[in-house]
Amino acid sequence: MARTDVIVLGAGIVGTSIALQLAKRNMAVALIDRASPGEQTSYGNSGVIEGSTVMPPAFPSNFGALLRVALKQGSDANYHLGFLPWVAPWLMRFRAASQPAVMEETARINRPLFARSIAEHEALMLESGATQYLRRNGWIKLYRSDAAFAGLRRELDLARELGVPVETMDADGARKLEPSLKPVFRHATYSPAAVSLSDPLAVTKAYAARFATLGGVVLKGDASSLHRSGNGWRAETAEGPIDAPEVVVALGPWAPDLLAQFGIRLPMGFKRGYHRRFKTEESAPLTRPVVDVFNGYLITPMRQGIRVTTGVEFAPRDAAATPVQFDRLMPKLDALYRIGPRAEDRTWLGSRPCFPDSRPVIGRAPGQKGMWLAIGHAHWGLTLGPITGRLLGEMMSGETPFLDPKGFAAERFL
Ligand SMILES: Cc1cc2nc3c(=O)[nH]c(=O)nc-3n(C[C@H](O)[C@H](O)[C@H](O)COP(=O)(O)OP(=O)(O)OC[C@H]3O[C@@H](n4cnc5c(N)ncnc54)[C@H](O)[C@@H]3O)c2cc1C
Repeated sequence: MARTDVIVLGAGIVGTSIALQLAKRNMAVALIDRASPGEQTSYGNSGVIEGSTVMPPAFPSNFGALLRVALKQGSDANYHLGFLPWVAPWLMRFRAASQPAVMEETARINRPLFARSIAEHEALMLESGATQYLRRNGWIKLYRSDAAFAGLRRELDLARELGVPVETMDADGARKLEPSLKPVFRHATYSPAAVSLSDPLAVTKAYAARFATLGGVVLKGDASSLHRSGNGWRAETAEGPIDAPEVVVALGPWAPDLLAQFGIRLPMGFKRGYHRRFKTEESAPLTRPVVDVFNGYLITPMRQGIRVTTGVEFAPRDAAATPVQFDRLMPKLDALYRIGPRAEDRTWLGSRPCFPDSRPVIGRAPGQKGMWLAIGHAHWGLTLGPITGRLLGEMMSGETPFLDPKGFAAERFL
């Protein structure tokens, strides 16, 4: 490559989408990762493009729910005891952001990103030849108790106000959509406008391939090699050093490691999550993602079988896997759906990179000229990758951004 305008560090769905959006704006981009595109967090997720999501996740709001988590009785959350002192400050901030008024404010700030997330994916999928992985049939959330369903009222009101279609139904209604579900639940919501992917890894790889056809280069390299060089930046790669005036950090849960080298400390926490793959039972077809809300797991049909993903685990990012949530959720899942045998022994583990206010950081890095950040996409990185790329592309090329990016600035933590 004769000249490089931008180095993008991290080829997950976020970094790859950014690289593609920048290349579409005629920038010469090098996308650098120590692995191949899409193989980390962006591989193992639930595949939902959550354009219809309104409310961010919340810290347990009542004593009973908190006690259930503390006693490790539920399958929705797990934690490593020794990690609690480390994560406590983050949890306190997350708890503060879970006050109803703050959550509603977060929902309103995030909405413009979510509202355009599906259209932006669809545009990239079309030009990348990846539309075969797209399912336009929404997703379903199941509620086993009247109380849990009643607690949704504010969220449903807000969805209506923001123009997000959500249908409520009883078990019969949900079973018309997914007849394989057994009626162990009482209520459901159906988000018809949401879409999902049958192979998230293939989609990121298709975006990377499209990026390459536009002249972008994908290189192997360690982001920790990034350093100042003249007025710009240099990163070492397997092909030699790459220099560029601007760099985008899109390292997902590994971003804090690099940012610490440059004195940038942001309150990123990690909500670890697991998946297991099961064979599809021909007699139990499933056509879209289904969430068992109280039990905190999701089942979804993927090209490679049924994927079951877990809720959150608070543990050090790099600690060994402790997939105990599967022991707790499998009896609930067996009662709900005839799941086939395991398709592989492996349990996949990934870390959702989360800021306590459930908003990503998208914009300039504080105090580092020519450095941009696109990190902390939490439960929604797959959803928000392409629209993040568009926003950053607009900001970096001096166009008027489609939204006011202030709500996503890193400065809110400084
Ligand atoms: C169980 C689970 C289910 C989820 N379900 C959904 C869902 O349904 N919908 C949704 O929208 N989101 C979902 N998410 C969240 C989503 O997967 C993440 O937000 C998203 O993948 C983050 O993307 P990313 O590109 O920021 O990070 P990553 O995909 O992790 O990419 C970061 C990249 O940086 C690279 N890297 C790291 N360190 C270095 C280094 N030193 N040098 C070079 N390269 C480096 C890595 O190799 C990696 O490729 C889920 C997450 C989990 C764990």
